[in-house]
Amino acid sequence: MSGIIAPYITAWSAEQDLPCALVERSDHSIGYANELLSDRDRHGVLWRQTALRHRVGRPEFARVHPSRQRRAMELLLCQVCGEPADRNDDGVLWLQRDCRDDWPQWPDGMASAEPPVCVPCVPIARRMCPALQRGAVTVRVRDCPVVGVRGVFYRQSVLAPTAAKAGNFAYDDPAVRRVLASALIRELRGCVIVPLEEVSGTMTRSLSR
Ligand SMILES: [Zn+2]
Repeated sequence: MSGIIAPYITAWSAEQDLPCALVERSDHSIGYANELLSDRDRHGVLWRQTALRHRVGRPEFARVHPSRQRRAMELLLCQVCGEPADRNDDGVLWLQRDCRDDWPQWPDGMASAEPPVCVPCVPIARRMCPALQRGAVTVRVRDCPVVGVRGVFYRQSVLAPTAAKAGNFAYDDPAVRRVLASALIRELRGCVIVPLEEVSGTMTRSLSR
């Protein structure tokens, strides 16, 4: 684990967005001028295409690689090491910035673009992410359906579709057909907040075995 210098989902400097021209399609959705089947997900939503050159150049911590984020979220892999996230009878393990003041049952019902984590990576993630250093909680999530994407909505314009607003879009929202997706979103349900010490405790035990 000590070899990790950047989270699995972080984009590297050699991984820039590919120049794909957006076009209007006859069904009022957006598409690429030269589109491949793999440019869309199984819901038919168009994805931002970014070069895949993992660990080439420098990690750019402010950028998440769309296809690694999507893979980690789809397969419930740890966002730090890319191995399967931790799971027990109470659910999959998530590490979140502490926002318990947001609403009484937080984070139940929250839409998350952050993939889960494995136990050994909890302290690594806390060290690497400035937002988590201000307060983090570990959460067991019993049910986490894929509900939509984070991306940019493109409005119709004379020459080519024009970026209008970024946000989260549910797969059942008709607007999603005009979204260029960059992250997959799951909704966190059946959440139980677990003390960090309890999670680290299981790690200590597993390491001493
Ligand atoms: Zn991990």
